[in-house]
Amino acid sequence: MLGWFKSLWWGAFAAGVVLLVLGVERIASRNALAEGHDRAETTLRQTVNSLEGHLRRFEALPALLARNQNIRDALETPQDPARIAALNQWLDETNALIESSDLYLIDLSGTTLAASNYARKDSFIGQNFSYRPYFTAAREGKSGHFYALGTTSGVRGYYFASPVRDDAGQILGVLALKIGVDEIEASWAAREYQILVTDPEGIVFMSTDPGWLYQGLLPLGRDQLARITASRRYADQALTALEVQSIETGPAHLLRLADGTGEDREYVATERVMPQAGWTVRVLLDTAPLKAPARLAVLAFALLLLVALLLSWLFLQRRARLAERLAIQAAARADLERQVAERTADLTRANDDLHRTQADLVQAGKLAALGRMSAALSHEINQPLAAARNYADSAGLLIDRADLPRAKENIGQILALIDRMAAIARHLRNVARKPNEPLKTVDLNAVLTDALAVAQARLDSAGATVETDLAADLPMVQGGPVRLQQVLVNVLSNAADAVEGTTDRRIALAARPLGDEVHLTVRDRGPGVAPAIADRIFDPFFTTKQVGSGLGLGLSISYNIMKDFEGDLRVANHPEGGAVFTLVLRRAGPKALAAE
Ligand code: ADP
Repeated sequence: MLGWFKSLWWGAFAAGVVLLVLGVERIASRNALAEGHDRAETTLRQTVNSLEGHLRRFEALPALLARNQNIRDALETPQDPARIAALNQWLDETNALIESSDLYLIDLSGTTLAASNYARKDSFIGQNFSYRPYFTAAREGKSGHFYALGTTSGVRGYYFASPVRDDAGQILGVLALKIGVDEIEASWAAREYQILVTDPEGIVFMSTDPGWLYQGLLPLGRDQLARITASRRYADQALTALEVQSIETGPAHLLRLADGTGEDREYVATERVMPQAGWTVRVLLDTAPLKAPARLAVLAFALLLLVALLLSWLFLQRRARLAERLAIQAAARADLERQVAERTADLTRANDDLHRTQADLVQAGKLAALGRMSAALSHEINQPLAAARNYADSAGLLIDRADLPRAKENIGQILALIDRMAAIARHLRNVARKPNEPLKTVDLNAVLTDALAVAQARLDSAGATVETDLAADLPMVQGGPVRLQQVLVNVLSNAADAVEGTTDRRIALAARPLGDEVHLTVRDRGPGVAPAIADRIFDPFFTTKQVGSGLGLGLSISYNIMKDFEGDLRVANHPEGGAVFTLVLRRAGPKALAAE
């Protein structure tokens, strides 16, 4: 469907281009013909003017010369040879003077009495011209003129004639004058125009192309032929009709006919009638050289059009190629984007896998922690339970023996063991602390005082001394006072454990504000934390202490409490020996509420 439409479009386009070229050709050739017509008209005007001028020069001469006395005398006494000879002489001289072809005198019967060409072999003398219309007209008192081919000389000429009258006005004879047309015709030659002159019957008698002479431009009827024969206008010359095709176009009248060599040609034709002579003058201008520049212009136009079409075709082609390249680029981009999306999906999948693995690991860690906790708990609980059972057995025996004071002692031991188990339970409850309690503004000095009071018994039993060094301008911090105290007691107890039994049992407690934070450090002079276990001491149930002495929960709980405060708990070894625990606390912001 689309292809069909496209070829239709191209067909219409090609037809349009052809029509355009044809239109331009038509306009160009019309212009050329119009210009040719104008030029032919100009030439025609000049030709007619010069022809009329030439004829007018001789028109009045026969009448003027007819008044000459010698002529009248000769007509009155035609038998006087001396008079005739003198007249011949006079006619010859006058003929030379006025530059006519022949000058001669005819009597009323039409016979020539005297002539300027008396000396020539083909002299007119004795010839009878009574059949010539110029003679008949002059004999009737009119001025005659006639164009004809000389019957005697075979030379074309134009004849003027005038009656010769005596004093009474009686017509005695006719004075005739012939002028040649060869010279005029010769002056037309060698020009781009063809000029031809036809008589009233349409016979060409003057022509720049000799091939057209004595031929009829109009079809010759019998009447015309009879008239021509009677006047012997063309002597014995055979007359034929030319094959002429007349074409009327807008800007010019065209004639199509064969030239002298027989070649068919087309001419722009203009014509004008010379009424007095009865002639029709035509100027013909060959259209072939006229149309050549027009054709050249059309060719140039077509070429230009072709170049323009070619250029636009190239342009379209280029644009199509560019669009193709852009499409390829877009496809490549889309492909790249698809690959990226695929990779991203792969990554997401891998991430998901990682998360799952991590979750699995955490789960495994939890299970391991649960295992460790079970082992520690069962040990911590089984031991006192077994001991309590032994004490209870002994107490039973002692009661049987009525040794009540010792039985009571045993029951006291059982109570101590129960207390110990209660302490373990309390620890466990702390593990299950509530982490999301809201943070409050805490006064560090108060918390420190309370914590030292709680830890005092343990510090004393380990023989440790505490040196406090607190900055005077300690700001309020964010946290919970009870939980912070728990952390401090824990860290101080660990410090007491670390220095117990060593020589230097000083514990340094310091607090310094540091930007947005407050750093609280507890330094002991014990063995320090071995690097191998430094990052494990905050794990739940990690302990290096003997079973029964530590659950390994203190630092784990403390660490989590500090994280709940948006702070931190860090461990390092002092260069001079001993562990340094740093409680990082945040300055209380406007958000925090007043004390817990
Ligand atoms: P516990 O005290 O029950 O062992 P903690 O979580 O409080 O549990 O401590 C974990 C471990 O960290 C201890 O077993 C000990 O090895 C180490 N530790 C804690 N404080 C100190 C300290 N001040 N000096 C040396 N080691 C310490």
